[in-house]
Amino acid sequence: MYKAMLYEELPDSRVRCNICQWRCVISPGEFGVCRMYQNRDGVLYNLNYAQTSSVAIDPIEKKPLFHFFPASSALSLGSWGCNFHCQHCQNWEISCPEPGDLEGKSHQILPQTAIDIALSRHCGGIAWTYNEPSIWFEYTLDSARLAKENGLYTVYVTNGYLTPEALDAIGPYLDAWRVDIKGFTTSFYQKLTKIPHWQGILEVAQRAKDKWKMHLEVVTNIIPTMNDDDQQLEGIACWIRDKLGELTPWHVTRFYPSHYLKHLPPTSIATLEHAYDIGKRVGLKFVYTGNTAGNSHENTYCPSCGKLIAERLSYQTRVVGLRGSRCKYCGAELNFRTSETEAKL
Ligand code: SF4
Repeated sequence: MYKAMLYEELPDSRVRCNICQWRCVISPGEFGVCRMYQNRDGVLYNLNYAQTSSVAIDPIEKKPLFHFFPASSALSLGSWGCNFHCQHCQNWEISCPEPGDLEGKSHQILPQTAIDIALSRHCGGIAWTYNEPSIWFEYTLDSARLAKENGLYTVYVTNGYLTPEALDAIGPYLDAWRVDIKGFTTSFYQKLTKIPHWQGILEVAQRAKDKWKMHLEVVTNIIPTMNDDDQQLEGIACWIRDKLGELTPWHVTRFYPSHYLKHLPPTSIATLEHAYDIGKRVGLKFVYTGNTAGNSHENTYCPSCGKLIAERLSYQTRVVGLRGSRCKYCGAELNFRTSETEAKL
């Protein structure tokens, strides 16, 4: 149990949590929507500090991040709980626990231990992933600070619903914001996730880029009949182009039936190709299809000279055409972050 960092005291010993945009008002003894913050006698506590559900060393491409330290490994840590309740969640065992469920199932990894593991296993950095990282916000903040002191990169794989003030607290220590933009209408977000203000995801993503200069990549998991219409796909693609820039990678990934959406079919390859075409048509330079092994839309080609820059197959990456963040053949800017580009900052 760990005292929460961002909350306000309210009358009658209630508190308002300001970590994510739910801004839960919590009475004594009660929990927030994520079930991992609890009001105990007027003080807000986080219940899963350093409590991991999942630990792995993953290729960074698995997040997916394709333009960020390609071919490096990331120590990947997940905890428990989520502030979304997505109908198609593939990690529902860890995202929907009751607080008591953690006992006996968690493995404690304190921030310094995480750093030691990452360094000893030659990881490029640490990614908080598998469940929503803001649900153990204080832990990720302490770890991110230490990671930067030790020369490691830091990554949030996030649904993007952090408050601006939480983002500003961790912004100085976070290098990459791998955010889901799941759809582009209020009705879709309410049906899939139950959150009240989905546009807040866009505002915070833009802030991560503009204010904190993070590297951004966007994922849209395309769910048949729910977000596969042209209006939503074009809306997302145009928003990325206009607010994050045409060089921002957009990953359109294949949905597989899971959780409460087992009745829907997997996304067809034709639908993924159509989403890819929409992204390219509106002017995005890097659109990738995901969960489709062997598809050539997982490779990076220079949008200027057309040459192969990075070849990918099942998380194996071969970088052949990069110099810093640019194409080594024609010099075009490709929006890559590597140890070479970071050394110049
Ligand atoms: S982090 Fe949890 S308790 Fe805090 S506002 Fe978000 S859902 Fe509510």
